[in-house]
Amino acid sequence: MAKRNIDVVVDGVAGGGQNSLDTQNPSSYTPTVKKHCPIKNAEIFTELIIQSGEKDMIIGNIIDLSRTISEDMPIYPGTEQPVIINPCTIDGCGFAEKKITLYSHTGTHMDAPSHILKGAPCLEDLGLRHFIGSGFMIDLSRCTIGSHSIELSDLMTFKNILERKEFILLHTGWGKYWGKDDYFKGYPILTKEAANWLASFELKGIGIDMISIDSPDTIEMQIHKIFLGKNTVIIENLANLTELAGKDFTLSCFPLKIDHSDGSPVRAVAIIN
Ligand SMILES: [Zn+2]
Repeated sequence: MAKRNIDVVVDGVAGGGQNSLDTQNPSSYTPTVKKHCPIKNAEIFTELIIQSGEKDMIIGNIIDLSRTISEDMPIYPGTEQPVIINPCTIDGCGFAEKKITLYSHTGTHMDAPSHILKGAPCLEDLGLRHFIGSGFMIDLSRCTIGSHSIELSDLMTFKNILERKEFILLHTGWGKYWGKDDYFKGYPILTKEAANWLASFELKGIGIDMISIDSPDTIEMQIHKIFLGKNTVIIENLANLTELAGKDFTLSCFPLKIDHSDGSPVRAVAIIN
């Protein structure tokens, strides 16, 4: 297939700006700024975004919902930062290869039932179909302002949709604090009643834009237990949920194939239908 170059007009730069994006090799493109990038003469809608210093992408009908793994990324308090070293470089070894050490619940990741519940399924026990399916984003960003809980009353209006979907993503707006101290405290938590109600649907998974679905000082992990007890996996630290407003999408969030997996980083993306 021939390479196709499309024009990207980048808003938000003083005086505006224009760059050429090679659709076959989008990583070669270095934007000077982000925000709205209307595409001329192309069926593919492309937008390059930098949020909180992190570069994320929307390419065509695929929206990246994942955080970048790096040594200085935010991690759950008490665990250790990822360690990424370069034992092999092209100059030294003729090839490049990294050694990566990280906890299984680092960055955008999935919790298996076995994460919290003894004897419960590991990720590999759930089967591949459990990691892809129809999704819906519930926008709670306004409901949660000044509140530390997500109530059943915030969710009930979505009952009919929940009956038809396999993944529900709760957009609380907390993702905007990624990289700041506020990300780890004061985020909204589902009440037990709201969690039990959500878990009563046939959901494969529930996703959030926060560090955890339970409060940071919990020992009980009761909200984790409610979902994982139903084999509804939990996807934490999702990004870019704002982009899903009003969109019908398929969520794809495959974990690494790790033996006896209690959790794994995932590359979560929404494929707009
Ligand atoms: Zn986790």
